[in-house]
Amino acid sequence: MLPERLARAITMAGPMPVAYFMAAANAHYYATRDPLGTGGDFTTAPEISQMFGELTGLWLADLWDRAGRPAAAHYVELGPGRGTLAADALRAMRGADLTPAVHFVETSPVLRAAQAERHPQATWHDGIATLPGDAPLLIVANEFFDALPIRQIVRTGADWRERLVACQDTLFLPIAGGTPVDGIVPAHLGEAPPGSIIETSPESVALMTALAARLKAQGGAAIIVDYGYEGPALGDTLQAVSGHAYANPFDRPGEQDLTAHVDFGTLGAAARVAGCRITGPVGQGEWLDRLGIAERAEALRRQAPERAAEIAAAAARLTAPDAMGALFRALAVTAPDWPEPEGFA
Ligand code: SAH
Repeated sequence: MLPERLARAITMAGPMPVAYFMAAANAHYYATRDPLGTGGDFTTAPEISQMFGELTGLWLADLWDRAGRPAAAHYVELGPGRGTLAADALRAMRGADLTPAVHFVETSPVLRAAQAERHPQATWHDGIATLPGDAPLLIVANEFFDALPIRQIVRTGADWRERLVACQDTLFLPIAGGTPVDGIVPAHLGEAPPGSIIETSPESVALMTALAARLKAQGGAAIIVDYGYEGPALGDTLQAVSGHAYANPFDRPGEQDLTAHVDFGTLGAAARVAGCRITGPVGQGEWLDRLGIAERAEALRRQAPERAAEIAAAAARLTAPDAMGALFRALAVTAPDWPEPEGFA
């Protein structure tokens, strides 16, 4: 059992950084279940409506078209879940004459099996290092970066400390580490009140840097959609979701989904430093509106009038500011010699 293993590790080696706890909990969580949908823990945009994946596919196809239709291109999805987004995106791309090879970066054997049912021709990767290097990459990451581990730095009375996870038996709780880490705190946040928290995700930044280096060398584009903020900033966004409700993130490690809001400011800066152009982020609602979700919903309604209410509800859920439209944001990363992406202005 993971809680016992983590408790043993903490008893032997001392409290562990939040990032280790989060990485271990999520590795176990995703390896042992399909968490998506009404019977699971959470629902994502592609599971709400086919419109999300279709518009994502058309967005990529439009860029590819204006980039001069390179003969070979690879569709790359990070954390593809059930493969629903990829199915909708690839169908839409096919309609635009784009039929890329399919690559999935996925660590969960359970979700790989679900993906293989819909995409038997795909190639799976544990990370991005093994992605092909011969042609442009068309990259999609929806609700992926939020699952990557974060560090938390907490303000104590006098200085900033790494936030660690301690335990009593298998009851886990956060504490402040013993060593000041003030050197890594951005100057403008340095004087925050005691108890303030700053989050950083070195793993996300490393991944973004490597993706951007690939795009610069090979051509292509990435669309990153997630809930997030313009950081670095103060705030504790570590959250657990279980059965569609929020839970204490330190409870039941490995049995609930641990996520953090994505720092789009820092991710974008990493991509820019690696030589790519970034566009956005803009709200998911704005992005989908500009890509024509209203027209797509209208076309679906004409095909299936009996589903009109369901289609309208899905479009509203994806775009309304008080639903997913404003909390979720879309960030584009493009190779420097690729065209300006649609949907951002
Ligand atoms: N994009 C999908 C699923 C989101 S859930 C959707 O929108 O429905 C997060 C996905 O990322 C899952 O497929 C999970 O198995 C995968 N994942 C989480 N951490 C990962 C990691 N470190 N490396 C690769 N995949 C990971």
